[in-house]
Amino acid sequence: MPLKPDLPEPESVERRVGLAIVGLGKLSAEELIPAIRTSQHTRVAALVTSDLEEGRSFARAFDLTENDVYSYEQFEGLKDREDVDAVYIVLPNSLHREYTERAARMGKHVLCEKPLSVNAEEAQAMVEACRAAGVHLMTAYRCQYTPHHWAARNAVQSGTLGQIKLLDSIHVQVEEDPEAWRMKLDLAGGGPLPDVGLYSLNIIRFVLGTEPEWVFAAQHQPKENPLFREVEESVAFMLGFPGGVIANCLTSYGAHKTTTLRILGDQGSALMDPAFSYTGLSLSLTDKAGETLPAFASYDQFGLEIDHFAQRIRDGKTPWTPGEEGVQDHRIMDAIYQSARTGQVVRLGASAGQDLFRGEKPDLPGQEN
Ligand code: NAD
Repeated sequence: MPLKPDLPEPESVERRVGLAIVGLGKLSAEELIPAIRTSQHTRVAALVTSDLEEGRSFARAFDLTENDVYSYEQFEGLKDREDVDAVYIVLPNSLHREYTERAARMGKHVLCEKPLSVNAEEAQAMVEACRAAGVHLMTAYRCQYTPHHWAARNAVQSGTLGQIKLLDSIHVQVEEDPEAWRMKLDLAGGGPLPDVGLYSLNIIRFVLGTEPEWVFAAQHQPKENPLFREVEESVAFMLGFPGGVIANCLTSYGAHKTTTLRILGDQGSALMDPAFSYTGLSLSLTDKAGETLPAFASYDQFGLEIDHFAQRIRDGKTPWTPGEEGVQDHRIMDAIYQSARTGQVVRLGASAGQDLFRGEKPDLPGQEN
């Protein structure tokens, strides 16, 4: 039986952390704004969009006024809005840096969608801009805030599965619009790897808590297909972690939607299928005693992630997935592309320790049954 939700009462609207949503695309409209409206600690305070008319209709629907709607050119108008504590950047990847730097200059905290940017150098510049301005930068890795992914990580970290030997993960989907920004290299920074393959990379790093020492990859880009003129169709990549742990990952824009994660230890295994969907995540844990299917109270992944950000703004502590966590994934993805280009293993060097790029752990509801 799922646990009963055990959430405290939301704060009064006036006390919540005010967010300006930058970019009113599919994710903002369908997931983030609804999640913020049911979150414990945040509220939508402003909207930034290229389409002011559409912004105004969003404002009406979400109890905001026309004065809460800004164009991208009017972005700096948020500076004087004391009720806007932070911006949530939900734009194509190559625009994340510009809006992060502009927000930091206004003294606003930044929650930025994944991938943090388009490569490690750009992502690092974002970290430095926010550090210099004294504002938080958090990478919006929703899967590091779910009870399901934490239960998988706890099974690894507690030794329940024995010594971890191998992991594999698939995140593939079919893209059909060659004109979409995701298919343009200058806007996306790559194809399925930074968009969906990143989930496999990020969650494998999260469950192990360690960093890969080497990568090896191959990719396929059928340039005669208008979809893949600029970005790859598929990437297969391997990651080598301390102690000889090997992970094998597949990502593609040409294969039917599948998201899985399997963790294999010498005394047990874990399987998530689906592993990265917005709802309906499934985890099974198998050890010598048999299989268990942990159940959790229903929750909103985006709401948990956004509330964590708000709590870190309140207490000043580093978020669990700060900008540095996003930079590290870019560093590894840059190495994956290098390996695919050269056909060589790329060594990242040893890095001892656990959770090197993470901050304060999140509080999660109903973690285990
Ligand atoms: P989308 O295409 O639906 O929306 C993008 C928004 O950016 C639109 O409002 C569009 O008008 C605006 N925009 C501004 N300049 C643009 C330009 N030059 N070209 C195209 N659009 C421009 O995209 P989305 O799916 O909402 O993705 C936005 C960000 O969110 C991306 O970084 C993506 O990786 C991330 N994302 C994260 C998740 C998740 O589960 N965390 C899911 C989907 C998308």
